[in-house]
Amino acid sequence: MRILITGAAGFLGSHLSDRLIKDGHDVVGMDNFITGSQENIAHLVGNPQFTFYRHDVSNYIFVPGKLDAVMHFASPASPNPSSPYAYFNLPIQTMKAGALGTHNTLGLAKANNARFLLASTSEIYGDPVEHPQSETYAGNVDITGPRAVYDEAKRFAESLTLAYHRQHGVDTRIVRIFNTYGPRMDLEDGRALPNLLKQALLGQSLTVYGDGSQTRSFCYVDDLVEGIVRLLYSNEHMPVNIGNPVEMTILQFAQTINRLTGNPAEVTYMDARSARDPQRRRPDITRAKNILGWEPHIDLEEGLLRTIPYFKQKLGVA
Ligand code: NAD
Ligand code: UDP
Repeated sequence: MRILITGAAGFLGSHLSDRLIKDGHDVVGMDNFITGSQENIAHLVGNPQFTFYRHDVSNYIFVPGKLDAVMHFASPASPNPSSPYAYFNLPIQTMKAGALGTHNTLGLAKANNARFLLASTSEIYGDPVEHPQSETYAGNVDITGPRAVYDEAKRFAESLTLAYHRQHGVDTRIVRIFNTYGPRMDLEDGRALPNLLKQALLGQSLTVYGDGSQTRSFCYVDDLVEGIVRLLYSNEHMPVNIGNPVEMTILQFAQTINRLTGNPAEVTYMDARSARDPQRRRPDITRAKNILGWEPHIDLEEGLLRTIPYFKQKLGVA
């Protein structure tokens, strides 16, 4: 297939590009570098299976030649307000990438008679009342809250994707991605893993927001990419959760990072990021197991050990 990946210079988009090229496909990458980096795709420059367009997906998209698939990953994705890359600080760009970007990429898929895959998020569940979150749960999102620009854009994107499927027959898929980590995460993007791992490798104390009892479940990027690729190859049109179901508190997460890096510093408790920081999050992956035969295989320790060398190299520490 010839596959367009928007957000190809980002963390997930670059790993997905690598994997699809490895599977024998041609990848057309597109990015405007608002939160991504040229470094993430530098190794693909000159590869005949990879071409790249610098473009903002909020504007009309033209790609010469036939496309067989369109995968829409372009969007700011960090929720930490202290980061310049966070969607809090890019609110209009975030809503445009989710709304106009989804409209443009769906139009492109329709014009090419191509399959389409939307990168949605566990954030569409908001601060969930149902736990764990299954795809039938409608969510608890505050439409004017601090995360609304991201959450509502993704919710709109899902609805628009299904509208194109139902009205125009576009061959669509929707993946709801839960917290994922690995090499090529931006060290400054403010999400939990880059923040805490960077602090640990520098021998600093780890900033835990609130009392650290809020939970997440962290998926290693290779597991996630395997699930997404299986979804792309499937015929499933309704949303599928992809994430690691092993739930832990952020304090346990921080302690695991300290143990694996041998960091003697303690944690520092900071003010909670906001009253709307989701308190519990864990995917119910029953649908992914049944439909895609997928479940994650890389546990947190293994995933951290695979991620640490990248962070060390970026930080210039031994
Ligand atoms: P990222 O910031 O590393 O990558 C996003 C990429 O999209 C960046 O390269 C950025 O420059 C690009 N981009 C943003 N707006 C654009 C625009 N208007 N036009 C062109 N390019 C644009 O983030 P990521 O973690 O790789 O996230 C990728 C996708 O996966 C996002 O859609 C995000 O919502 C979704 N997601 C990620 C996670 C996660 O844990 N990493 C969880 C849930 C959902
Ligand atoms: N967090 C933290 N310290 C940090 C960064 C994040 O305690 O330095 C917490 C944050 O409050 C949240 C969890 O870690 O409860 C996960 O945050 P992240 O930004 O990775 O993404 P989220 O899951 O909230 O979308």
